[in-house]
Amino acid sequence: MESISIFNMLKIGVGPSSSHTLGPWRAVERWIRELKGSGMFQDVVGVKLNLYGSLSLTGKGHATDIALMLGLIGADPEYFPIDDIQKTVSGIRDTKSLLFNGEVLLPFDPDSDIIFNRKFLPFHANGMVFEALLSSGRTVKETYYSIGGGFVIKKERVNSKRNLKVFHSFPYPIENGADLLGYCQQQGRSISEVVLENERSLRDDAEIDQQLHRLWDTMLESMYLGCHTEGTLPGGLNVHRRAYDMHSQLTGEIPYANPMEWLGTIRKTEVKFRQILKWVSCFALGVNEVNASLGRVVTSPTNGSAGVVPAVLMYYMVIENHEANFEHIKKFLLVAGEIGSIFKKGATISAAMGGCQAEIGVSSAMAAGALTELLGGTPQQVLMAAEIAMEHHLGLTCDPIGGLVQIPCIERNSMGAIKAINAAELALDTNPDNAKISLDKVVNTMWETAKDMSSKYKETSEGGLAVGVYLSDC
Ligand code: SF4
Repeated sequence: MESISIFNMLKIGVGPSSSHTLGPWRAVERWIRELKGSGMFQDVVGVKLNLYGSLSLTGKGHATDIALMLGLIGADPEYFPIDDIQKTVSGIRDTKSLLFNGEVLLPFDPDSDIIFNRKFLPFHANGMVFEALLSSGRTVKETYYSIGGGFVIKKERVNSKRNLKVFHSFPYPIENGADLLGYCQQQGRSISEVVLENERSLRDDAEIDQQLHRLWDTMLESMYLGCHTEGTLPGGLNVHRRAYDMHSQLTGEIPYANPMEWLGTIRKTEVKFRQILKWVSCFALGVNEVNASLGRVVTSPTNGSAGVVPAVLMYYMVIENHEANFEHIKKFLLVAGEIGSIFKKGATISAAMGGCQAEIGVSSAMAAGALTELLGGTPQQVLMAAEIAMEHHLGLTCDPIGGLVQIPCIERNSMGAIKAINAAELALDTNPDNAKISLDKVVNTMWETAKDMSSKYKETSEGGLAVGVYLSDC
């Protein structure tokens, strides 16, 4: 049984994709660590990176090649300056060389040393085989899989034993919604309180708060940046950035100079139903436009769906509760992270395994549950809201046009956010004892649906909108 901290579900990374950008980046980091651990790192004289399956089919549109190069030079996705990405990658392309982990100069031509293989490896749709040529002439290979949300595993699941130990150290081991609800009822605690106790077994309160602050700051900054950046997204689809236009129509005359002042001014604006829809959409679009332009966002649970959780939290902050503060943010993120991990354990958060229900559906469920707790819902109602949000995303396919995380992805975040708010309201007005479908039932149904879904709709860009819309139309 797997134990997942909420800080593994909510992570700061670079767009556009957690499975195709952050995961491969983290896989290269891990490979370098392992080469160092085995004493081979200094003997490496060349590298080749093989991509398989979905990573190969949509990797270029998802900037997998860029992520791999940044991983090879030892850049950290949480901190590497976004503005330096293009010039760093251009430098590698121009010189056909890179400084491996910032230490060893290697020849490297991305056109021949990153290999896009159309075939799928049997274990998972996102396979990578990294080859290191050693000075002795020997080649050593390692295989990794990017399983969604930036998580990386090897087939033998070396980490599972380590995870098991962490699992036993949790005071409240949680495999599914029933476990979580059981602890809440036994202890008379809210979901966020139970989840916080688990986190406390891994890190102290100061570190928990500091990490949560960083997550929220990154979410707020990505919304702010997205709402204040005009123009066209990179990638060739000529997608116009819409958050800027929507935001321009929504804001009044009150001046502001930074994200926190911006938040304060939104609290003072008019919010009829249409404005609420527009604000929430604007927040979600903004994050995912930043994500699509290789910006920094919080993976929640993935990059393609990174706009839903912040948009719903911001909705609570600026529309629902003008007095909301860090304690509300903390509760929201604790609940959202735990719901995401229940989906990861019981189904998947990888679009390559489960289509878009695994991304937008899960993010909507995370946000719905978290909002419900902040609005005073019981733990049963929190899980009910998560169930409702997923129930109405079941079967949602992944078919990004041109393999870019833009159409339908960006808009889909606004839809997921609005559904989350609606799901929370429905759950708050319902007696959960009368519910016909539990969260665990919908998690299982999502997984069964994922298994039945044609691979055309699992992040391969081989079906749906990806083939129904011609790039020349965009
Ligand atoms: S369609 Fe959904 S799952 Fe696929 S890349 Fe876009 S947001 Fe991610």
